[in-house]
Amino acid sequence: MKVSIIGTGYVGLTSGAVLAYLGHEVTCLDTDRAKIAQVRAGRCPFSEPHLDALLRLAGGRCRFTTFYEEGIPSAEVILLCVGTPPAPDGSPDLRSVFEVARAIGAHLGSACKVVANKSTVPVGTAKLVQSLIRETRMAGNGKAPAVSFSVASNPEFLSQGAAVRDCLYPDRILVGADDPRGVAALRQLYEPVIEQSFAPPAFLPRPRGKTGVPLLDTDLASAELIKYAANAFLALKISFINEVAELAEKTGADVGEVARGIGFDPRIGPSFLQAGIGWGGSCFGKDTATLLATASQHGLSMPVVQAAREVNYRQRQRVLEQLHAELGGLEGQIVGLLGLAFKPHTDDVRDAPGLDLARRLIAAGATVKAHHPVALDRARAEPGLPDLIYCDTPQAVAQACDAIVLVTEWPQYRRLPWSQLAAAMRSPVLLDGRNCLDPKQLERAGFRYVGMGRRSTRSSAPRPIRTRTSPAPVWSPAPALSGVPV
Ligand code: NAD
Repeated sequence: MKVSIIGTGYVGLTSGAVLAYLGHEVTCLDTDRAKIAQVRAGRCPFSEPHLDALLRLAGGRCRFTTFYEEGIPSAEVILLCVGTPPAPDGSPDLRSVFEVARAIGAHLGSACKVVANKSTVPVGTAKLVQSLIRETRMAGNGKAPAVSFSVASNPEFLSQGAAVRDCLYPDRILVGADDPRGVAALRQLYEPVIEQSFAPPAFLPRPRGKTGVPLLDTDLASAELIKYAANAFLALKISFINEVAELAEKTGADVGEVARGIGFDPRIGPSFLQAGIGWGGSCFGKDTATLLATASQHGLSMPVVQAAREVNYRQRQRVLEQLHAELGGLEGQIVGLLGLAFKPHTDDVRDAPGLDLARRLIAAGATVKAHHPVALDRARAEPGLPDLIYCDTPQAVAQACDAIVLVTEWPQYRRLPWSQLAAAMRSPVLLDGRNCLDPKQLERAGFRYVGMGRRSTRSSAPRPIRTRTSPAPVWSPAPALSGVPV
């Protein structure tokens, strides 16, 4: 099919590369000329595993433009993937969505079967997009649109850091439409994914047992709300375990043990129960805020979602309090941060806990140094951090430092030469903000280890949970989160 993807960011470029890899003819359109120039030159404009390789495999089937007249008229399927950043009142800024709807109205061709929204947008937006396309066409033609097209909601569930994998092997494809032709067109578009009939790329083999992907077909409003409800639920699962972590700290329990113990229950499940600094990124904060704003417009409150947000942002302050307690104050201290992006395997620093922490620490009088494997340039471009010292290596962060905070659980941070780092520090305190390091190993290396709701190894030894199937203690350093979406 001929596909036009509007908005070539994390969602749009990944979707474009995947659809082109599957055999479709894709045009990716973005108003950001620098970004388009970069992809045309063969460089991915952001860090996302496997995306470069997939773009190379997609080759000439994935083209790029900044002109609507090049992308839209011949498209059979148009996917909106523009950003919907938060406005100051918490509601999403939909200006890009509406601008694109008008541009589609002005350029739509007779081949178009469906205009589908992959951007996360409040309930009712698809209908607004439909009206804007029609109004613009009428204004241009002076008559009702000659082309017949459907508008659909096709929310995206990929998680950054695993976006290519999530698009090739999703849990489900969600389509909301009030018109069966929209569903039919999107079913045709995603058929290779639904049937899992494509040849997997060598670098991302098909997961064992993955024989098909369900297409969930629902109405427009439900599809739009499902996306928000999914993100809010994931956000509150993390906030819940963080709340438990605080209680674990006070009572001498270990939150890792508690998470493991409750995660065995299939009604709860083990994922998203990793206590730590909490969530960040471009989605959870924005989407929970939108849910609250939407509820309020309907005279409702959503106290559970509200609490999930409060607990999350309180976590960042808790890190400061822990550091304060360990160091006896923050003024004049040198604090090192390992990791700035909101999760591993991405360079995205939108609403990243690491940058927030840096701002709070600097405001409290600390000197802050930071390392990140791929996000230093993006972090440098963020406002309000002129005093943050960027380091090329974790060793440079450790030099003369009073405490290190592990903020993002990049796999490479698990294998650092900890003894060397401890020796280079003024006082070797390590605050493990993701509970992903082995406290005993760190203490052997000379650190004073501080976890988040983890039982201290300095007091009595933990009594591990045992299972029948595994005679060895179940307790171990928290499992790797790499690839687990947050
Ligand atoms: P992004 O900021 O990375 O990309 C958005 C792109 O849209 C930018 O390149 C921007 O230049 C472009 N754009 C803005 N206005 C435009 C216009 N008028 N015409 C053409 N291009 C325009 O955003 P993203 O992270 O890819 O997210 C896009 C949407 O998908 C958001 O609504 C987001 O909530 C949703 N989403 C994101 C993720 C994620 O993990 N990033 C996951 C699921 C859903």
